[in-house]
Amino acid sequence: MYILDTCAFLTQNHPEGEIATISEIESELNNRQSKQYFTNMKEIGLKIREPKVDSIENIRKNSEETGDLGVLSSIDLKILALAYEMRGIIVSDDFAIQNVALHMGVEFTSCSGNEIKELRKWKYRCSACRAEALEKVDSCSVCGSEKIFRFKVK
Ligand SMILES: [Zn+2]
Repeated sequence: MYILDTCAFLTQNHPEGEIATISEIESELNNRQSKQYFTNMKEIGLKIREPKVDSIENIRKNSEETGDLGVLSSIDLKILALAYEMRGIIVSDDFAIQNVALHMGVEFTSCSGNEIKELRKWKYRCSACRAEALEKVDSCSVCGSEKIFRFKVK
C-alpha cells in the first residue's frame, strides 16, 4: 500500500499498486491537471481514508522528538498517521515528512528522487539571546524576541 502525498498528484509520478490518501489532499491540488488526476485515480481505485485521532497524536509526539512538528501542516500529520496505521509506504517530497517517517520506521519514497538518507534532529533558537527551545515558539521565552529560527542538531 502506498500513501500518496501532494507530490504524487502534482507530478503524476508515483509507484503503481494499491494507493490511498486522505480527503484533505484535494485542497492542496492547485491546478486543473492535478485535480483531474486525483479524480481519475479515485475512479480506478485510489482509497480515501481518515486516520484515527490516536495515530495523529502519536505522529505529533514523534515529530516533536525530531523537531519537525513546527513545519508540518495538519495534512502532513494525517498523511504520516495514515501510513503508520496502514503500514503503507509514504510517497512524499517533503523532507520533514520523510524525517518523521524515518524516525518511526515507516518506509518512504519520493516523487522527485530526492530522499533523506539519515535522520535529522532540529531545535529552535532565538536569534537575539541564543536561547534554545525544543518546540517552535512564536516568541522567545527568555527575551521575548520573535526572531526564532530552526537549526539542525545532527
Ligand atoms: Zn531570546
